[in-house]
Parts: sequence; C-alpha cells; structure tokens
Amino acid sequence: KRKRGEDSLSSLIQRVEDLDLKGSLKNFADLPLSDPTARGLTASHYKTMTDIQSRAISHGLKGRDILGAAKTGSGKTLAFIVPVLENLYRRQWTEYDGLGALILSPTRELAIQIFEVLRKVGRYHGFSAGLVIGGRSLREEQDRLGRMNILLLVMDEADRILDMGFQHSVDAIIDHLPKERQTMLFSATQTKKVSDLARLSLQEPEYVAVHEAA
Ligand code: ADP
Ligand code: MG
Repeated sequence: KRKRGEDSLSSLIQRVEDLDLKGSLKNFADLPLSDPTARGLTASHYKTMTDIQSRAISHGLKGRDILGAAKTGSGKTLAFIVPVLENLYRRQWTEYDGLGALILSPTRELAIQIFEVLRKVGRYHGFSAGLVIGGRSLREEQDRLGRMNILLLVMDEADRILDMGFQHSVDAIIDHLPKERQTMLFSATQTKKVSDLARLSLQEPEYVAVHEAA
C-alpha cells in the first residue's frame, strides 16, 4: 500500500520540475506549492502575486540563484520566503538537519519584519525559526556557521547592508558557508557594490529587475 504523503511529495517535486519559467503566473495558487505554504498564504490573505513575486518565485522554487531588484514596498519578502519554505519542505528538512536557511538583513527592525512574515506564512509548517540580532562576535558566529548545513542564503536589502558598512561581515559569512547552496540576493537599488557582491556570492543567477511603469 502506498503512503499518501510520499505520493503528494513526489508529485509536488514533479510539478516544480515541470514548471515553465517562461510563463507568467498571476496567483500564488498557480504555483506548485506545498499544502502548508498554500494554506499559510491564504490565511494571511495573499492571493495575487506582485511583479517581483511572479517573476522571482518560480526560479527560486527551482533552486536557482536570484539577483532581484525592486523598489521598497514591491513585495520582496515573500519572493524569498516562499522559496525558502518550499525548498526546505521538499527536502523534508527537520530540526535535526540543523540550520537550513540563513536570511541576512541590515537592521533589527527589518529582521523582525521578515521573521513575522515567516511566522505568519509558515505557520502550518513544522520548521523552527530563530531571530539573531546583534551581540555575538563575528568569530563566534563564524565557528558556528562552519558547522552548519546551510542550503539557502538570502541577503535582503543588500544595498543597505553594504551602505551600512557590513561588507566585511557579509564576505566573512559567505566564506564560511557551504559552496553548494542556493543564494537569493534582493535589493531596492542596483549599485556597483551590489553587483560586486552578486558576482562574488551568486552562481549563474537569474536576474529579476522590476522597473516602475513610465
Ligand atoms: P519590500 O520588501 O519590497 O519593501 P514587502 O515584502 O515588505 O516589500 O511588502 C510590502 C507590503 O506589501 C507588505 O505590507 C506586504 O504584506 C504587502 N504584500 C506583499 N506581497 C503581497 C501580495 N502578493 N498581495 C498583497 N499584499 C502583499
Ligand atoms: Mg523588504
């Protein structure tokens, strides 16, 4: 007798493989998403995707690196939260596998906002999430990072991370992460520093820029 859970996981994996990257999808319901994420989005009243979401999430679901640029307020948070939840879910990640995804943000306020979106949309998942704000020495964090299994790195507001002078910290963190990982870098503006960081940290990224309509 086949187990229903295994069937639906392998069919989800197949649907992600079959996802057409050239098509443009309008609603979250059009994406191949797990039941917990689909329910979390509905319960949070998210139905129609914003431009950056409809252009970035499919690539993120397929494990591609992403360089995403779109102005503040365009919905970048869900553009990376949905792939993070899904990619860990499809790999059946559990807390025993350690830290699967790391999200870097420039300020504690933004970190708290991301954490809240993650908790809201991810509420039906079994993952645990932690918020780390300031405090520890970089050396201490590096040693911890080196022992972790991180599969996914997100850098949110990369332009601000760099403008605030965190370049060396970000370089040091990236140095200590596994080379085999998915990296998604989002920013509101496209600066020279951002493209330098992208060149250093992303592998054959999908470049997704949403410009304002003229
Ligand atoms: P950004 O990071 O690009 O500045 P946010 O991710 O913070 O944007 O989203 C801005 C606002 O838009 C938030 O209040 C968020 O809840 C809302 N939002 C994001 N995506 C959607 C969506 N698909 N449908 C409706 N509202 C959304
Ligand atoms: Mg944001």
